[in-house]
Amino acid sequence: MNPPTPLLEGLHSFKLPIPYPMKTVTVLVSTASPITLIDTGVNHLETQVALEEHLKSLGLTVLDLERVILTHNHPDHSGLSGWIQRQSGAKVLMLDHEVQDSAHYLSSTWFKPHLEHLTAHGLPPELAPTLEGFQKSRAEIDFPETVQTLQAGDTLELVGERFEVLWMPGHSDGHLTLWSANSGLLIAGDVLLERITPHIGLYARGRPDPLGDYLTSLERIVALEPRSTVVGHYGPTIEGGAVRANQIREHHHERLEHLQTLLERPLGGFEVSLELFRRELPASGRRFALTETLAHLEHLRLRGVLRREWVNEGWLYAKV
Ligand SMILES: [Zn+2]
Repeated sequence: MNPPTPLLEGLHSFKLPIPYPMKTVTVLVSTASPITLIDTGVNHLETQVALEEHLKSLGLTVLDLERVILTHNHPDHSGLSGWIQRQSGAKVLMLDHEVQDSAHYLSSTWFKPHLEHLTAHGLPPELAPTLEGFQKSRAEIDFPETVQTLQAGDTLELVGERFEVLWMPGHSDGHLTLWSANSGLLIAGDVLLERITPHIGLYARGRPDPLGDYLTSLERIVALEPRSTVVGHYGPTIEGGAVRANQIREHHHERLEHLQTLLERPLGGFEVSLELFRRELPASGRRFALTETLAHLEHLRLRGVLRREWVNEGWLYAKV
């Protein structure tokens, strides 16, 4: 167990184990009242035990937690929030957009439109998600009974510092970040990552242009010029943040250029994804590659660069 990293007096970050390729997720604890946890890790026993050990090293237990702030509703960030609330009675807070989205994302009604969406963009049946897989992944979130909503622009106090709640959609529709102008600290969740770029995917019933949303979020980080940024995986912090935000913007712009060269003839989203992500991937990886490709295709379509047509029960994209 690595010792928690102090960020500001009384604000500590540490990494919890998660059963995903990134291996760990960053969570933060503020030991000043109200005692606050930011993100929770996934609903797995190993993660829960590690959280309890880290809290113990700060002289705390789960029962002491008074407030839990979730950057977004993905299982690696929100998974233990229901368990924590039942133990401690902590308030759980999330951005308004994400609260609305969670009702759909966590319900069994999510699966069918998701499958139809992927199929309409050419996903072969052998790579289609299964209902059992869907149910298993939902078990990785123990969602709280009651969630309080935050609005973009709200402010809250953490260890005596004023943090502004910023809405930075892209990786999820209602992703929030916390910004302290005074200390120059940005708590970014999965908006900014080291080593890998956050997944930006187009989903059924999601916002129509997640890549456009995300590029705007990155521009905002560049404009903030953070002194230090807490990132959801790896890290837990990176110096600055604007340089990394610009690198990721560049990466997506290059991909948008590359994608246009592939569309010399009309192609379905899945075919394009095989060209954009040529490495061998498991079925779940191929689905992420498809949703990520669709975010890029739709970004160009909504800007009038591409058009799409319904042919033989599926969408084909072509240059205008
Ligand atoms: Zn994550």
